[in-house]
Amino acid sequence: MTSRVWADIDLDAEGKHAGYLYAAHSVTRSGYGHVATPIAVIRNGAGPTALLMGGNHGDEYEGQVALLRLARETEARAIKGRIIIIPMANVAAAGAGVRTSPLDEGNLNRAFPGSADGTPTFAMAHYYDTVLFPQVDALIDIHSGGTSMDYLPLASICLHGEAAVDAKARALLAAFGAPISMIWDAVDPRMAEIAAARRGVPAVSGEFGGAGTVKPACLAVVERGLRNALRHMGIVAGKPEPSQSRPMETPARAFYAFASATGLFEPLVALGDTVAAGQPCGRIHFPDEPLREPVTCRYSAAGLVVCLRQPARVERGDCVSHLARDAAS
Ligand SMILES: [Zn+2]
Repeated sequence: MTSRVWADIDLDAEGKHAGYLYAAHSVTRSGYGHVATPIAVIRNGAGPTALLMGGNHGDEYEGQVALLRLARETEARAIKGRIIIIPMANVAAAGAGVRTSPLDEGNLNRAFPGSADGTPTFAMAHYYDTVLFPQVDALIDIHSGGTSMDYLPLASICLHGEAAVDAKARALLAAFGAPISMIWDAVDPRMAEIAAARRGVPAVSGEFGGAGTVKPACLAVVERGLRNALRHMGIVAGKPEPSQSRPMETPARAFYAFASATGLFEPLVALGDTVAAGQPCGRIHFPDEPLREPVTCRYSAAGLVVCLRQPARVERGDCVSHLARDAAS
C-alpha cells in the first residue's frame, strides 16, 4: 500500500533544505492533525545518497546532536550526491525524551516494515521502508544505550545473509572506524537496519554511549564515523581516516546478564572491564526486607563489558549488562 506520509519539501531539489514529514494523527486535541518529523536534505548533482538517522529511540542523543551539526555545517557545494538527515526518526519519542512513542507506545526499531494505515510510529516505519530505503545507497542509524543503559562507543552491523549487501555493510563499518566494530548475531526483522538490508541497502548502526547523556568522547566517535562513511561513499571528497577498530561480536544470549530479582542493582564491574565466565556482574538488594542477603548476578560467558545498566532499580528480567568478545574472523 502506498504511504500516506507526505513531505513539505522536494527530496530531489538541489541545495540544502529542511522541512517535515507529515503522518496523519487525528485526535481530540487536533482534528485532521499530523505528527511532523523534521528532515533536512542536502543535494549537489548526481551521486550516491546516504540516509542518516538519529532519535530512532527517543532517549538516545548522540546521533541527534551529531546530525544537527552535520546538517548545519555541510554546504551543498561540498558534497556530491545527496545526504538525507532525520535527527528525530521517532519524533514523538524524541520530543518526550523516552525510548518509545508516547502517542502509540511504538518502538520504531521494532516497527518495520510498518503499516501505511498504522499509528504514527508504524506509518513512519512504512514510509522509511517503502519511500526512503528504495532511493538510498546506505543507511546509518545512530543509537546509544538510552536512559537505561550505557555503552562503550561501538559501531555495528547485522549480517543479512545476502553476500553482496553484507559485503557493503562490512566495508561501510570498516570505513566508519569506531573503536569497536561489532557484528550482532541476534537480529530482529522489525529493526530499521534489517528492513534496509531487505531492500538491498547496507546499513551501519551502533551504540555510542547512553545513560541519557551526550558525552563529548562518544559524540566525537559518531562525528568522525559519519565523516568517514560519507568519504567512503564518495559523497564527501577524500579517503576515510585510518582507524584501529577492534572487531568484536556478541554471539549468544550467554553474553547478556539479566536481573534475577526485583530490587536495587549494585554493579560490581565497570564499562571496559574484562571478565571471566562465572564472575559476578552485580548484586541486587532488597530494601523492603532489611535482613535479606542480596543476590549476586553472574556472567555466564567471558568477555569485555561493553554495556551496563544505569538506573539502580531493576525488575526481574531487566538486562543489567552485556559482553562482547573478539571476533573470530
Ligand atoms: Zn536505540
